[in-house]
Amino acid sequence: MFAVGHMSLGYLLGKISAKILKIQINTPLILVLSIIPDIDIILELLVGNPVHRGPTHSLFFAFLIFIPFFLIFKTRVIPYFVALASHSVLADFFIGGEIQLLWPLTESEFSAAQFGFSMVQINDPINIALELILFIFAILVMLKAGDFLKFFRSNISNFLLIIPVITVLLPTFTSYPLPVPNLLAFPHLFYLIVFVISGLVALKKILL
Ligand SMILES: [Zn+2]
Repeated sequence: MFAVGHMSLGYLLGKISAKILKIQINTPLILVLSIIPDIDIILELLVGNPVHRGPTHSLFFAFLIFIPFFLIFKTRVIPYFVALASHSVLADFFIGGEIQLLWPLTESEFSAAQFGFSMVQINDPINIALELILFIFAILVMLKAGDFLKFFRSNISNFLLIIPVITVLLPTFTSYPLPVPNLLAFPHLFYLIVFVISGLVALKKILL
C-alpha cells in the first residue's frame, strides 16, 4: 500500500477500536504509527542496503515498541497498536509483495500469496480503488468525529505529523521508492498540505 492507504486504514481501525473501548484517540499519533514500518524507506537511503519491507515490517518490531506501553497504559494502547500492526498484517502482507513478518526468527519473506490468496500488486487497479475508498472514508469519519479540525488547532502532538511528511509523503513526490499513480497523487498531496500546515501551527506553539 501507499502512504495514503496505510494512514487511512490505520485511522479507521484505530477509531473503530477506540469506539469499542470507549476511549479517545490522538489522531496524529495514530497516523504516524500507521506508517512507522515504512521509515525503512529512509533507512535504506542511509544504510545503502535494501531493507524496505524488512525488520520494521515484522510482528517482533510491533510488539517490541508496544510492550512497555501495554504494561503502563493497558487496553488504552490497543487503537495505537492496531494502527501500527495494520500496516504489515492487513496491508503489506496482502498487497505489493512480501515482508519479513517473522524477523528475527527468520529472514524469509512472507505474503498472503503463499497461503492461497491472489497477490495484489501495488499498482493494481484493485489496490488503487481500495486506497481511494479508504481515503474518502477516513476523511468523512474525521470530519464527522471532529478530528479533522484538530489538525489546525494549536496542539503540540500535531508536530508529529512532520514524520510522515519527511519519511513517506515527500519521497513519493520524487517517485521514491516508486511513482504514485495519478489517482492517488491527490490524496497524497491532500495529506501533505494538511500535515505541513498542522506541523507549522504546532511549531509556532513550541517556539512562541
Ligand atoms: Zn510498508
